[in-house]
Amino acid sequence: MSKRNSVKITCPKCKKESDFQIWESINIQLDPEMKEQVLNGEAFLFKCPDCGEEAYVNYSVLYHDMEKRIMIYLLPDVEEEIKAAAQFMSGMDENNLGLDLSAITEGYSNRIVTSLRELQEKIYISDAGYDDRIIEIMKMLYLGMMAEQTPDKRVDEILFDFVREGEHRIIFIEGGNVFASAPVNDEVYNDVRKTFKERIENNPSEYFIYDFVWARSLLK
Ligand SMILES: [Zn+2]
Repeated sequence: MSKRNSVKITCPKCKKESDFQIWESINIQLDPEMKEQVLNGEAFLFKCPDCGEEAYVNYSVLYHDMEKRIMIYLLPDVEEEIKAAAQFMSGMDENNLGLDLSAITEGYSNRIVTSLRELQEKIYISDAGYDDRIIEIMKMLYLGMMAEQTPDKRVDEILFDFVREGEHRIIFIEGGNVFASAPVNDEVYNDVRKTFKERIENNPSEYFIYDFVWARSLLK
């Protein structure tokens, strides 16, 4: 099920208070329109009814796709919150959100992310049919190549990017600008999957966080 709540938001411009709907959890089978609103950011965008000002609101939300069998928890980057969410995802704290976890058993990919950008990226990766852990390793491998080719660049972010249906790439960002990209093709993907299969299985993330840091630790 999906759960939402109304909260009061003070407009950053006119300082008037108005209601804003936040989601505690989003089940995209039950609320399919919410997937697009997460991907375009609208689910987090407050629009002031008085002055029209727009501002993004950070809030925690559990994103649940029953068909693809993924649960992604978007949380602030706070240790206690991450620990609590990890416990919840391990099934150790079923009543935390009042959700029935009994239907959720094996075969699920549980993830914790700490930014909307990461949540969106995880959704794109899952839509493309890829395993995000393999994508994170590919980013690290490409980064090594990139560092040799463009040693003067500072890499601020590496993201999985949706180009068009069936076409994806990994982009390298410096100061908000994409300065390089590498295609994600099945050949490389399958190679990486084979090579790292055991290491991936032997190194689950304690807090369901599969990011750059996790991939780096795996490559050491
Ligand atoms: Zn306002």
